[in-house]
Amino acid sequence: MATNKLLLLPGDGIGPEIMAEVKKVIAWFNARGTNFEFEEGLVGGAAYDAHGTAISEEDMAKAQAADAIIFGAVGGPKWDSVPYDCRPEAGLLRLRKDLGLFANLRPAICYPALADASSLKKELIEGLDILIVRELTGGVYFGEPKEITDLENGQKRAVDTQVYDTYEIERIAEVAFDLARTRDNKVCSMEKRNVMVSGLLWNEVVSATHAAKFSDVTLEHMLADAGGMQLVRRPKQFDVIVTDNLFGDMLSDVAAMLTGSLGMLPSASLGAPDAETGKRKAMYEPVHGSAPDIAGTGAANPIAMIASFAMALRYSFQMIAEADLLEKAVSNALDKGMRTKDIAKEGEATVSTEQMGEAILAELEALAA
Ligand code: NAD
Repeated sequence: MATNKLLLLPGDGIGPEIMAEVKKVIAWFNARGTNFEFEEGLVGGAAYDAHGTAISEEDMAKAQAADAIIFGAVGGPKWDSVPYDCRPEAGLLRLRKDLGLFANLRPAICYPALADASSLKKELIEGLDILIVRELTGGVYFGEPKEITDLENGQKRAVDTQVYDTYEIERIAEVAFDLARTRDNKVCSMEKRNVMVSGLLWNEVVSATHAAKFSDVTLEHMLADAGGMQLVRRPKQFDVIVTDNLFGDMLSDVAAMLTGSLGMLPSASLGAPDAETGKRKAMYEPVHGSAPDIAGTGAANPIAMIASFAMALRYSFQMIAEADLLEKAVSNALDKGMRTKDIAKEGEATVSTEQMGEAILAELEALAA
């Protein structure tokens, strides 16, 4: 049986603490035949301390060879003054760039037990399950020119450039349509075609991709500002949202907060399918950072990290039943009142990182029995 190769990069702060819980989940699945093999590497401040760089060439080679990378979090005050090129985030950016991870997937799922934690009314978000597909390697964050010039009249001018080529829009649209087919088969594409020519092209290419290959999927277009409004007004109308780097950055944060704590949010970043194997390079990571304020206290919520592994099961290994099982185990642990500090209401009893991990394993056992 082929092995499934994982590279675990725990990183800094709470990264190693939450990764320890994922390792237990991997061992649980392996005991039932999933055949995961994992290597570990250093990234961020941990890599800087060991190698003087945010990720070593050796670990980059491991990343290139892995079927999926499971990434914790990087950064912390200890590395605030290291040289710019060696800052912890440089490791994350190098991984994204070298592996060509252009599609960022951010699900916003509302666990029934946490419906009260949202800033929206319970009935608006109960049962919410949307997926934001954000273009991650193009657009205004990378477009040239990107500069501040001195106009020599006491004024300065700042320029960022929003730029998209057809192929960049086509490939992200394809990811969104493909994913919609595994869900409720609906895509909403968001741009600003009313004021931006890049929005016009985005709209045109998404429509053409839909007509050519995905006409079975329902496609809707929405202006990104209206989309933001609809996300907080009636979020359950959406299934998959596809949008560019800038709008995706904002809209995915809005959608994320509908569901409660940062400690609950997983993400995936995918590259293009390999020409021979069809497999995509992929990295799975919680949305949150290294939380130095609680590192070492056992207070970190491991759910975002464990749910990121569930995304790896689903998207890199097509282990849909296993992914469903793991997500159900998380949901059941929450139903039984398990709460780390970040998701507990005032006065509610809390559990540690390890206890939450154990509770999820116990639910996996119960579901598999
Ligand atoms: P953060 O996400 O680390 O923390 C924000 C707040 O949320 C903190 O109060 C933290 O305790 C809490 N929190 C985060 N994750 C949690 C979890 N799993 N369980 C419980 N509480 C949790 O953001 P920050 O404080 O702005 O940044 C801290 C460091 O992380 C910085 O060095 C920053 O650059 C880095 N960072 C890294 C990533 C990444 O690795 N992808 C992302 C964001 C920030």
